[in-house]
Amino acid sequence: MRFDSVPKPPPVEARPRDTRGYPVPAITPWHDGQPQFALTDHERSAACARDRLCSVCNTLMPAGPVWRVVGGAETEAIAEALAAGLPYRNLAATLEGPGHRACMLYASMVCPYLARPNARRGMSAARPDELTEHVVRGAVRGAHGAVVGFADYEFAITPDRVLFRFVDLVEFLPHATSDAHLDELRAELARSPR
Ligand SMILES: [Zn+2]
Repeated sequence: MRFDSVPKPPPVEARPRDTRGYPVPAITPWHDGQPQFALTDHERSAACARDRLCSVCNTLMPAGPVWRVVGGAETEAIAEALAAGLPYRNLAATLEGPGHRACMLYASMVCPYLARPNARRGMSAARPDELTEHVVRGAVRGAHGAVVGFADYEFAITPDRVLFRFVDLVEFLPHATSDAHLDELRAELARSPR
C-alpha cells in the first residue's frame, strides 16, 4: 500500500521527511542532507536508550511496555514459545531500539525494509492471552514479521554500538501483509492520540 495512506501518529507527522515524503526515524543518520535509512546513528540511538525516547518519533515513551518490529525468524520463535505455553526469552541483544505502540504499528506498514506489499493476507492479530496453539500457528503462517510489545527494555552503550535487550513479552501481533495493522493503528491513534 502507499505509505502516505497509512495514518501517522502526530509525532511521526512532525518528523523531517526525505525527498519522497517518508518520515525519517529518530535514529536514522543523515549524510549530506540525505537520511541513511539502512543505518543507525550511534548518538541518536544512545539518546533514545538513555532518555527513553521512541526510536521512530524521538518523543518520550511513558513508563510501561515498549514495542518493536521483529522479522520472520523471531516471529516464528515467539509463536512456537506461545504455542508451547512457554515464556518467550530472547537474551540476544539487538541494535534496534524500542518505540511507541502506534509508531511501531506505523513503521511495520511503512518502512520499506519491513513492509512486503505482495505477501498474501494473513489472520488478524491476537493478544497472547487469547492465543491458542491453533490460532498461533494460523496467525504465523505466512507471517514475515510481527509488532511485539515487551514489559521493558535494557540497554548498553559501548563506544561503537548501542545494544538493546527486551524482557517479558506482553503483546504479539504477527503480520503477513503490509496493511495488516491498519485497523489496529487507527484504533491506537483514536485511543491515545499523541
Ligand atoms: Zn513514537
